[in-house]
Amino acid sequence: MKRPLVRDDLKSMEGYHSPQVEVDIRLNTNEAPFPPPEEFETVFLQEVKKVDWNRYPDRLAWSLREDLAELHQVEPEQIFVANGSNEVLQTICLTFGGHQRTALTFEPTYAMYGQIARIAQCRVAETQRDETFQIRLEALERAIEVEKPDLMFLCSPNNPTGTPESLDVIEASLGLSSGVVVVDEAYGQFADFTALDLLDERDPSESLIVTRTFSKTWSMAGVRLGYCVAPPWMFEEFQKVVLPYHLDSVKQIAGRVALRFQDQMEQRVAQISSERNRVSEAMTQFGVQVWPSQANFILFGTAPCDLSGEEVWKRLLERSVLVRNCSGWPGLTDCLRVTLGTEQENTIFLEALQEALQ
Ligand code: PMP
Repeated sequence: MKRPLVRDDLKSMEGYHSPQVEVDIRLNTNEAPFPPPEEFETVFLQEVKKVDWNRYPDRLAWSLREDLAELHQVEPEQIFVANGSNEVLQTICLTFGGHQRTALTFEPTYAMYGQIARIAQCRVAETQRDETFQIRLEALERAIEVEKPDLMFLCSPNNPTGTPESLDVIEASLGLSSGVVVVDEAYGQFADFTALDLLDERDPSESLIVTRTFSKTWSMAGVRLGYCVAPPWMFEEFQKVVLPYHLDSVKQIAGRVALRFQDQMEQRVAQISSERNRVSEAMTQFGVQVWPSQANFILFGTAPCDLSGEEVWKRLLERSVLVRNCSGWPGLTDCLRVTLGTEQENTIFLEALQEALQ
């Protein structure tokens, strides 16, 4: 029987995937290494008992948006919530992208920007970062002038390099582009700098959107919850794009309950950041190239050790340690990315790496 044809542009596209193999130490997807605090589960289960199962959820997710607004000292109207920050990014692409519109990315960066934008029928323009993975102001200016992006993606700290974007770059983007400037802060809590600070100072009609997720710091990758802080006028447009009741009642509760444990989350961020320093220092001593990270992962290059990234990745896998193999990605030859785990997992990773490099 003949198969119906998919869209022409889908045929040539590859999906985004990270291998999910069985290993003892899984450090490849930048999740939190620990579950949420124990009390989270108790409170969550109590709250879930109150759900009206036969009724649709609050379509505006108002209480959750109020709580998030309080967290960031903004208005609830500025908060939009979706099923993971990927869905937030998709909503932004569907709202500001589409046919004959352009999305600008700064490579290497999170591959989903290009992927989601293409699915939303945008043209994707790619500009290269410099050798330290920073965006040079001249390159930024030129890209905005030539490509005239309707939306652009900055990522701070940038995945997979771990480097934060500079305030200069974000301000220049806002000043020069007439499109939307998205600053993806999926790992924002691990960094010294947040673009959320700019929201206080700017006229709320500006084009800045800052996205965040519950998947990393909040230990809730399994729940799929993300949000953005945006100018209030955008909310109504986003609501046209998402499906009715896209955010279920249980998820809204999970988000609200998680926010009650902010202190514990901050302690975990501090713990992971201190592990990041320990692991980076040890790796530097092994002779690999380590890029300074402000996230919960570290990018490293194996070339100074005369080994290919692919080879080191395989040797780590033989030792039941899974990291992200970025070595085939443009601009990342022989690079691997390791997510910080628990102290014990990190120690096992370091031992495995030391062996792998011999
Ligand atoms: N942005 C960046 C930079 C990421 O690395 C990720 C997760 N890999 C996401 C967004 C999506 O996160 P989620 O959909 O789990 O919120």
